[in-house]
Amino acid sequence: MLKVDLHCHSSVSDGVLAPADVAAHARRAGVDVWALTDHDEVGGTAAARAAALEQGMRFVAGVEISITWANETVHIVGLQIDEHDAALKAGLAATRAGRDARGREIAAQLAQAGIADAYEGALAYVGNPDLMSRTHFARFLVDTGRCANIPEVFRKYLSEGKPGYVPHRWASLADAVGWIRGAGGIAVIAHPGRYRFSDTAQGVLFDEFKQLGGAAIEVVTGSHTPDQYPEYAALANAYGFLASRGTDFHAPGESRVDFAALPPLPANVTPVWHDWF
Ligand code: AMP
Ligand code: MN
Ligand code: MN
Ligand code: MN
Repeated sequence: MLKVDLHCHSSVSDGVLAPADVAAHARRAGVDVWALTDHDEVGGTAAARAAALEQGMRFVAGVEISITWANETVHIVGLQIDEHDAALKAGLAATRAGRDARGREIAAQLAQAGIADAYEGALAYVGNPDLMSRTHFARFLVDTGRCANIPEVFRKYLSEGKPGYVPHRWASLADAVGWIRGAGGIAVIAHPGRYRFSDTAQGVLFDEFKQLGGAAIEVVTGSHTPDQYPEYAALANAYGFLASRGTDFHAPGESRVDFAALPPLPANVTPVWHDWF
């Protein structure tokens, strides 16, 4: 059986390894079909593709787009995209704009909470100046001893109601799905079990997504708990969505699940890659 992993990050967004090193890391863990899905950015695609092919993997061009839906941040993965598509690239650039100013506001809030120089601190971890992420602040807070690990950072800082949380308006659901489909890609709701929606709101999200041409949801992801795999498998089938699978890997030792440890999709779903090969 092919080992397919369709969600992970490089230093082009908030991962720590360069695209080629993520490819090598995935291959060592037995991955056969691999997508790089950096946040709001496709700049790593060429290097990732070259490394994947060199390693003997099939490569899938991808992206993970930040959107705001019902006042919550939601992530939409695009797979099999043409990364050169002009409208997609313009949309991603617009989505990235504002990250730097947001970073400065995050740092101002952290300074009020007694943590000085967090902007410069986080910047030292940033691989792509266009893409300053909360993850970079989290690494700074761990490495300077403010927190023991990344999850603890997000419990104490950077999330709603905590110091360093700066509300941000990302792309719309319609824009993200439109950019992905316009670039010939397949739109996938990333880690649906991670959002804090009621069942009703989640159903509205799935309905709207489907109406816009969205085709799949992630079922097995490092961002789900194991009890959420069958739950979202059933929801994929109920809504007629294909199912996707990916670690959401960011860094060795940092991510909840590494490439080798993620279980396969449940047998009762249709994989998003069912007609790719
Ligand atoms: P941003 O796009 O700058 O808001 O950063 C979002 C990123 O922060 C996500 O893609 C994750 O990598 C990371 N993140 C968010 N919440 C958590 C959490 N609770 N634990 C670990 N990482 C998180
Ligand atoms: Mn991330
Ligand atoms: Mn995500
Ligand atoms: Mn991700």
